[in-house]
Amino acid sequence: MKRLEKLYEGKAKIIYATEDPDLVIQYFKDDATANDGIKKGTIVDKGVINNQVSTRIFQYLEEKGVATHYVEQLNDREMLVKSLEIIPVEVVFRNVAAGSLCKRLGIEEAKHLDPPIQEFFLKDDPLHDPMINESHIKTFEWATEKEVAFLKASGSKVNQLLEEFFKARGIRLVDFKLEYGRHKGEVLLGDEISPDGCRLWDLETGEKMDKDRFRFNLGSVEEKYQEVYKLVCGEGV
Ligand code: UDP
Repeated sequence: MKRLEKLYEGKAKIIYATEDPDLVIQYFKDDATANDGIKKGTIVDKGVINNQVSTRIFQYLEEKGVATHYVEQLNDREMLVKSLEIIPVEVVFRNVAAGSLCKRLGIEEAKHLDPPIQEFFLKDDPLHDPMINESHIKTFEWATEKEVAFLKASGSKVNQLLEEFFKARGIRLVDFKLEYGRHKGEVLLGDEISPDGCRLWDLETGEKMDKDRFRFNLGSVEEKYQEVYKLVCGEGV
């Protein structure tokens, strides 16, 4: 599949057109940002790892009946995906308290959350991705009522599937963010599923294996991304 013009460049990925208007190429960069884009850096080979990890996870989710934008992995940094009209709503699921939840509500980190918490955030960098609810989404027409119901049901299924997937690999799925988009009348899971957008803790030791290592200068960032890669994509998995 030939790569044509650049359509969009985000913080961690670039989207290129292809000869087929229904397909685009998602290129994974090593660039990392945190703290609303204030902290910038590079995580060596992050793009390669996130491409492989996302590929494996999209394949797994497709096998389990979740419709995603994934088509095929083209090379170590490029994935062919269906072009989406992105729904500007981030769907977050939390199984364990961490990050903004702890800050916002004074909950202690690592508290098990049962039932899991589901939140919506508006995808809007200048507004710092504010938290929103279903009422905002419907009134401002960011998604229809039917789509909102779909995001909740699909997200919940993805949470259950991913929790099992990571648990089988010695990883605790703490929380994660999903993005969806419209493609030919269907809503598909888009973006990526990687240690950039998931909090992943070692099931035994509780050690952080995700972008929090970069966000909070915890060290061994590359090593932990590599470890997640091996556990998700390694032989015998
Ligand atoms: N997340 C993300 N992109 C965002 C905001 C959050 O991928 O713009 C992910 C984040 O990695 C975590 C989950 O969503 O796995 C919940 O993030 P939280 O609301 O706790 O925000 P943070 O503390 O990361 O600012």
